[in-house]
Amino acid sequence: MIAAFVLSTLLGYYLLDSLAKLLNLRSLRTEVPNEFVDVYDATRYRRSQEYTRSNTWFELLVSTVDLAALLIFWLLGGFEVSDQFIRGFHLPAVFSGLLYLGILCAGREALMLPFAIYHTFVIEQRYGFNRTTVATFVTDRLKEWSISGLLMAGFAFIILSLFEAFGLSAWLVGCICTAALSIILVYIAPRVILPLFFKLSPVPEGALRTQVTEFSLRQRFPIRELLVIDGSRRSSKANAFFTGFGPNKRIALYDTLISSHTVPELLAVLAHEIGHYKRHHIVKHLIIGQLNLFLLFLGASFCISRPELFAAFGVSTRSYYVGLALYLVLVRPLSVLFGIVVNYWSRRDEFEADRFAAETLGDPNPLIQALKRLSRDSLSNLTPHPLLVSLHFTHPPVLARIRALKAVKATSSAMVVSSRESLPTPADS
Ligand SMILES: [Zn+2]
Repeated sequence: MIAAFVLSTLLGYYLLDSLAKLLNLRSLRTEVPNEFVDVYDATRYRRSQEYTRSNTWFELLVSTVDLAALLIFWLLGGFEVSDQFIRGFHLPAVFSGLLYLGILCAGREALMLPFAIYHTFVIEQRYGFNRTTVATFVTDRLKEWSISGLLMAGFAFIILSLFEAFGLSAWLVGCICTAALSIILVYIAPRVILPLFFKLSPVPEGALRTQVTEFSLRQRFPIRELLVIDGSRRSSKANAFFTGFGPNKRIALYDTLISSHTVPELLAVLAHEIGHYKRHHIVKHLIIGQLNLFLLFLGASFCISRPELFAAFGVSTRSYYVGLALYLVLVRPLSVLFGIVVNYWSRRDEFEADRFAAETLGDPNPLIQALKRLSRDSLSNLTPHPLLVSLHFTHPPVLARIRALKAVKATSSAMVVSSRESLPTPADS
């Protein structure tokens, strides 16, 4: 019964996801959308579609291999065999659990490694995005594995110890510990983990720094640091993000973003990010994340000791750690449903942050121009299929954003005229 349920949710999600990807391939358009005729020529636009096509086939291959590997492992009794192997060492339950979860994670990582290599050095290379050298790739992986290994081992140690000591009634305490850990991570990741991968330095004095400082003062949005990240060492793709809370807010801009955009465009991108703070999106998503965790733990408290779950995966000896691993397989497709709702909220927030930027700058054009440049430079798909958007997109399709921004112009033009004196000059258009 449970086996049939898990199998049908896994297959059901796989089929839905593949259908969305195939529909997306069919919805690629050969003619450049009107909004983009000034930044895209026909050749580069065709290239963006080839890029979408290459990535889609690649993703289909990865998801097929991933599912096939899981099903084969399951059918061959892999969950039982690895448990019996570990039990042979007669370790305390918590350490057996760490070893068990570690082996499963390492196995999956090993399976995915060739795909990661192919994606970076073949696909990204072919379209001119890759700047990662083999040495950087190898050291990045080693750092990633040691950091995530350490974090996950620490986390699993706490949860398994709680379960071993207090039984399943410890789920709420486990949930609170996990929530605390995740919030601590939000604080330390940008200060401790990010610098392990990137070099961060202050944005030099100049128009960008002056205008950002002025804008953030006007918006009563104190910024502790304005930083540039050397993203160009790994990829030519551009990005920007915020870190920190309260008075510790830091903005980080990729050097690739700074080099390919005008100052008004960069200011518009930052205004959008500030909009996320001003409209409380950051806090909202943090709360949604914690709610997700709560539901996960609540579900775990019902599932991970059930004999049916162990029977479904052919495991003979019940334990919290195997139950946890099986539960994670069970909830993976279900969490997609949660993701669809969260993604919908996230896309709505993006529109809101766009509107914030357009209204506070009194002109939607710099942001429109920045979005167009970003889309062109990253060869993003301008006409994604709605099913794919609802499944996976945290950001609305760029054309929808541009159309919404143009609508802001019409409604806020009165404000623009009345307050033109205090506003920065609009971007080139
Ligand atoms: Zn955003």
